Amino acid sequence: MSLQLDQRQRAMLAEMGVKLWAPRAKAAAESAAAVKTRAPVEKAAPVPAPARTPPPARPAPLPVSGPIPAAAPASAALGPRPEGVESMDWPALEAAVAGCRACGLCAHRTQAVFGVGSRAADWMVVGEAPGDNEDRQGQPFVGQAGKLLDNMLAAIGLSRQASADTPLAGRQGVYIANVLKCRPPGNRNPQPEEVAQCEPYLRRQVALVQPRIILAMGRFAVQSLLQTTEPIGRLRGRVHQYRGVPVIVTYHPAYLLRALPEKAKAWQDLCLALKVAGAPA
Ligand code: SF4
Repeated sequence: MSLQLDQRQRAMLAEMGVKLWAPRAKAAAESAAAVKTRAPVEKAAPVPAPARTPPPARPAPLPVSGPIPAAAPASAALGPRPEGVESMDWPALEAAVAGCRACGLCAHRTQAVFGVGSRAADWMVVGEAPGDNEDRQGQPFVGQAGKLLDNMLAAIGLSRQASADTPLAGRQGVYIANVLKCRPPGNRNPQPEEVAQCEPYLRRQVALVQPRIILAMGRFAVQSLLQTTEPIGRLRGRVHQYRGVPVIVTYHPAYLLRALPEKAKAWQDLCLALKVAGAPA
């Protein structure tokens, strides 16, 4: 597939550690141009040099730290998930998530993290669960991992800033949500019953957005969407399906920050997604 990239996108790919082939003379000219545009990119997403970072001992999309509270405290006052999620509109769905107490994670959240971006987008990114920063800010994929995701998306012409009421919201926008809307304490792994309770909200978000492609990022997002226990490494490079929508599997940006050599694979995954969904206008 031939992918036309402008200087800004090439500079962002350089920040990701992805090298693009180009004829020698052309590459030299583009490299000089990319240097001129580098200052704003570095400000947006500083990424350390790949050669100095050793590979991780084992792939782990999100760190597990501290004691793992397995169940909600007695004071959590759990309740059933609101009925009719499958037919809710956006305001009703957002309100249902904000007030949800269907699993024990409600006891630990600052706020539920619903989703962000264009609700008319062709592309949807699905992550795992809010971390500390997301829990505080109420947005998925913030902090360094969020910046890396934004740079990855910018490299293929997408932006979470493209709002639903702009003409390019469908082609250039992206909607970003997590499988779990509330933060697991200590960034522990989600538990199956928590994922099962929360999945109908994501299912409704996908039905409302009607994306042309879903980029599933991280082990729990992938395994939840595809109902599998296979590792990401064995699921990459193929087109999967979630309720009729093509799904491309890739690594979580938080993992890529710790495993810089895997960025090239993430770029391959983005290229496959582009091939399936078509390049943004
Ligand atoms: S994680 Fe999902 S199911 Fe659990 S309380 Fe939060 S919104 Fe409800």
